[in-house]
Amino acid sequence: MYSLPNKLQGFVPYKPLTGEYRVRLDVNESYHELPTDEVIHAVMEIGRVKLNRYPDPYATDTINEFSNLFGTESRYVTAGNGSDELIGLIAAGLLEKGSKVLTLSPDFTMYGFYSRLYELEVDDLPKNTDFEVDIDETLEYINNNNIKCLMFSNPCNPTSLGVEKSEVMRLVVEAGKKGVLIVVDEAYMDFWDESQSTLNEVSNYDNLIVLRTCSKSVALAGIRLGFAVACERITSALKTIKSPFNVNSLSQAIGAAVLSDTIGYRKSIAHIKESTNTLALGLLGLSKLGVFEKIYDTKTNFVFAKVEKAVEIYEFLLERGVAVRCFPPNHLRICAGTREEMNILCRELAVWQIQELEG
Ligand SMILES: *Cc1c(COP(=O)(O)O)cnc(C)c1O
Repeated sequence: MYSLPNKLQGFVPYKPLTGEYRVRLDVNESYHELPTDEVIHAVMEIGRVKLNRYPDPYATDTINEFSNLFGTESRYVTAGNGSDELIGLIAAGLLEKGSKVLTLSPDFTMYGFYSRLYELEVDDLPKNTDFEVDIDETLEYINNNNIKCLMFSNPCNPTSLGVEKSEVMRLVVEAGKKGVLIVVDEAYMDFWDESQSTLNEVSNYDNLIVLRTCSKSVALAGIRLGFAVACERITSALKTIKSPFNVNSLSQAIGAAVLSDTIGYRKSIAHIKESTNTLALGLLGLSKLGVFEKIYDTKTNFVFAKVEKAVEIYEFLLERGVAVRCFPPNHLRICAGTREEMNILCRELAVWQIQELEG
């Protein structure tokens, strides 16, 4: 009888919310649908795609537009079927079998997922009580535990907090002395401050990979497009080990068309940042009523909140068609939405509060 490998023990299928919810604020997507002009432009680009042919294995146009928008150079960039694929590729191909990867928790869970899948060992270092990353402690852990790679998100999903660039670079330099690979997942950097990005440092370091994605700020979660930015040696290795036609032609065409609209991109970011601030202020107001204990200082497009009755509130909202993300026992993560969505959310939270007071 065929048996599944032991390494799959402990893996559970990814279970996204299914069903219809009037407000979806649980997976950090952009609430912006692309404006009409951009859509028409993207569709015209699709019209040129020859679907009988394989896609460009190096996604040249798409990478050029990405590089232009983010101020890097194409030779440092690899495109992937979402940054998820790139995390998997790093784990599968850039580390010796059995070597140790360090993750910090709470953080994006895919780092541990792919590392385990590809038979790496995973150590997890919990963050301190404020969820700040302690760089000295992290470096000490790396040095004392034979860590070969550290993967973390900056700004962090789910905590919404950011580590300053100078601190990240200290990590890269110090860990680099031991040949440790540092993967900085900057999926949300657009919402914080590009001057905190380490994207432009990749040519100076042989142990730094920066990940970016079109799934959040670029509002293209549906096309699956992400990028790894690294020195030429790592980039060449990634391009060697990736599946040759990993990014399909339609995604390449849409990605290139949308990334070429610098003005639209900047407008969208500004709008989402404002919406996130409104959400944070709204939740802060509710914290005065005692609903929330703490609202973290967000550098992302979502707000992370400490709530005593997180699970109760999560279930209450879900019953009313409002989906947010729950991190039991005491935290909620709520993504910025349209004005209407946020009004509905705040109204429902107020209703919950009134019911609580009335017992
Ligand atoms: C959403 C998210 C991504 C995006 O992954 P894609 O595969 O590009 O959609 C990557 N990293 C983090 C931390 C995220 O929250």
